[in-house]
Amino acid sequence: MRLTCPLCGARDRREFTWIGAASLLGRPAPGGDFVGWAHLRENPAGPLDELWLHNAGCGALLRGARDTVTHATAPLTLAGGAR
Ligand SMILES: [Zn+2]
Repeated sequence: MRLTCPLCGARDRREFTWIGAASLLGRPAPGGDFVGWAHLRENPAGPLDELWLHNAGCGALLRGARDTVTHATAPLTLAGGAR
């Protein structure tokens, strides 16, 4: 599987670390459902918005959709947005 980093280009998946669903970016406010945010994960069969860390490349935190059945990926973008 190859992923395309917006900064480095197409790279082997082994250069990236899967972080989890992009819902991790939406940390709840104090008093919110912190336990659910920290411990409950989605596991859909189909498209999932995910976070990837390009740890063997530029170190950027990236966001993109991947189909969990076919592993087809959409282009990754910087998780924090363009700077
Ligand atoms: Zn990169």
